[in-house]
Amino acid sequence: MIKIHRINYDRCPLCNSNDLAAEIKANCSKHPLYSPSLSEIITWLRCKHCNHSFTDGYFDAAGFEELAKKSQGNQVFSLQQAEQWRLISGRIVTNVSNLRNSYSGRWLDIGFGNGALLLTAQEFGYKVTGIDLRYSSIEALKPYIEDIRCQDYLDVDEYEQYDVISMADVLEHVPFPKIFLDHSNKLLRPSGLIFISLPNMSSPIWEVLNKNNANPYWGEIEHFHNFSRERLVSLLRDYDFEYCHYGISERYRACMEVIARKVINK
Ligand SMILES: [Zn+2]
Repeated sequence: MIKIHRINYDRCPLCNSNDLAAEIKANCSKHPLYSPSLSEIITWLRCKHCNHSFTDGYFDAAGFEELAKKSQGNQVFSLQQAEQWRLISGRIVTNVSNLRNSYSGRWLDIGFGNGALLLTAQEFGYKVTGIDLRYSSIEALKPYIEDIRCQDYLDVDEYEQYDVISMADVLEHVPFPKIFLDHSNKLLRPSGLIFISLPNMSSPIWEVLNKNNANPYWGEIEHFHNFSRERLVSLLRDYDFEYCHYGISERYRACMEVIARKVINK
């Protein structure tokens, strides 16, 4: 069997510092997406300069392909998922819309997974576009959504065309998140909103999970990053986004949701 290795980060993927410390080693062999061609051990590092937490390496195309061979149940469209996640998605769309004072415009969802957020944004009145790299997700949503694409996010080139871009539990899966934020800024219209949900490493519940040896994220094979609210907000600021909402994400354990507005700095 060919063993798939990670490509090592030699610097912090957020601030480029090479002042890094080993943080924790976790076993991921019980993860539903684990396969024996991947390493059982995930090594987490901490940047001493900006305090970001990240894995010692990220997967190349072969690694992502191996992970994409299986799907987790909650990432797949089904009647049960659509009903259960419609309520959670409805609250997200409401929060975003209240900040915009509008229920219309173009909404782009990156990595739409089970499709619930896209379907719900469409239900509220948005013209939605969804991209995902899993063919099964594309096929499942096609009957319900017109503009659904199997496309790399960085290949989307409709600059300043979107009013809302959502990344629900996506950024921690991306080897270099800064590129995604930079690209999002280019695709959003002035004053457009970005919605991001992901685990919050600086939440008290994160510490409680650690103390109980029950933090699921150290062994999360698909994640390369643990963000704190503070680090995410400062990174958003670097890409000309103004932080305007914090909430507890109802999607996964210990998760936060952050909404930020594109500002034009003259
Ligand atoms: Zn750093």
